[in-house]
Amino acid sequence: MGNTTYDVIIVGAGPAGCMTAILLSDVFNVLIIERQKLPRSKSCSGILIEKSVKLIREYVGEIPEYVQCIPRKTTGLSVTTSSDTFDFSDNGLNIIRAEFDYWLTKEAQKKEAEVIEEANISGIRRGKNITVEVYQGQDVRELETKLLIACDGINGCSRRLLGVVKQKKVITYQKFYKGTIDMDATKFYAYTSPEFSKYDAWINSKDGMLVIGVIAEKKTEAQHYHEKFIEFLIKTKNLRISREVDEEIWFLPLVVPEPDLVFNNDNIFFAGEAAGLLNPFGEGISLALSSAIALAGSCKMHKHKLSQYDSIADGYKNLMSKELAYMKRQWDFLMRFAPEFQHNIKNLRGI
Ligand SMILES: Cc1cc2nc3c(=O)[nH]c(=O)nc-3n(C[C@H](O)[C@H](O)[C@H](O)COP(=O)(O)OP(=O)(O)OC[C@H]3O[C@@H](n4cnc5c(N)ncnc54)[C@H](O)[C@@H]3O)c2cc1C
Repeated sequence: MGNTTYDVIIVGAGPAGCMTAILLSDVFNVLIIERQKLPRSKSCSGILIEKSVKLIREYVGEIPEYVQCIPRKTTGLSVTTSSDTFDFSDNGLNIIRAEFDYWLTKEAQKKEAEVIEEANISGIRRGKNITVEVYQGQDVRELETKLLIACDGINGCSRRLLGVVKQKKVITYQKFYKGTIDMDATKFYAYTSPEFSKYDAWINSKDGMLVIGVIAEKKTEAQHYHEKFIEFLIKTKNLRISREVDEEIWFLPLVVPEPDLVFNNDNIFFAGEAAGLLNPFGEGISLALSSAIALAGSCKMHKHKLSQYDSIADGYKNLMSKELAYMKRQWDFLMRFAPEFQHNIKNLRGI
């Protein structure tokens, strides 16, 4: 890392950070700061819905086969409520998150974005420019930027460092098994019963493994829900487990219809999960990508006047308004067809 001044510094090499870097690097000098060693792991079901696939194809290119897993194609979501099962078809892709996100990082580097990994943001100071204090190994350095874009996800620290409203979060707990079940491997199955989860319980297939997960407030509660859900799948779907392979615990922003959205704090912008963006059933990659596209679009419209951050923020929010309206329509629909969701959401709001 030779430079110490940038037009744009992006925190986080997830889909939001990488897409922002890919779109801005032809106009600005851009640095991505990533806390983990790359390729980094990220707990995920790894479903790219059709909308995400389309955005990637339009703005980045064909998604390489090596980031995909078996079955490559996904065919949609099946939601089981207390009264019925609803199927929503969608032509998506089944991906390995670590590889997919790393591919996006490399695409950003091809566009000449600089990337530093295993580096952590530990301080942000505002002046005419923004000073970012970065720890990397034993080194602490100060970097200057005109715009800072926080794409550091639910586990990031940008909101805390800036004193911006804290994001509420829940625990996701998923386990990987070798085994068999009477289900279509191309589908993502969600169950809304409060017996199995604070929000939903799910099962999908990846590279010959069954991924079974639940949401809770605490790990012990998650383990309890998980056991109940496994019992249910054994009884109703003929689940047969031959071996447990892995276990993942992560966080998810509170999946509620009115999240704590923050798009900017003066000249510091937020995209993806750091902004609070998440669709029902925890689908967040499409919003990470679309918020990056909207923010980059607005920055480019103001490329000669990055200091006019109010105008950049207005442009960004304006470009995001359709996305937010769509998110709301999804919630309204969900609340109608899965009445127990109202119960789950009411409980989550109390967290
Ligand atoms: C169990 C689970 C399953 C999911 N399944 C799906 C799915 O199938 N499909 C889907 O669309 N969405 C899914 N999601 C949601 C999706 O993973 C997120 O919404 C998406 O990753 C958000 O992208 P992002 O770029 O905003 O943040 P992230 O992908 O979280 O990236 C943030 C990056 O910032 C880095 N970072 C954090 N703090 C710092 C710091 N201080 N300094 C530098 N770097 C930092 C992190 O290391 C990380 O690389 C799932 C989430 C969970 C938990």
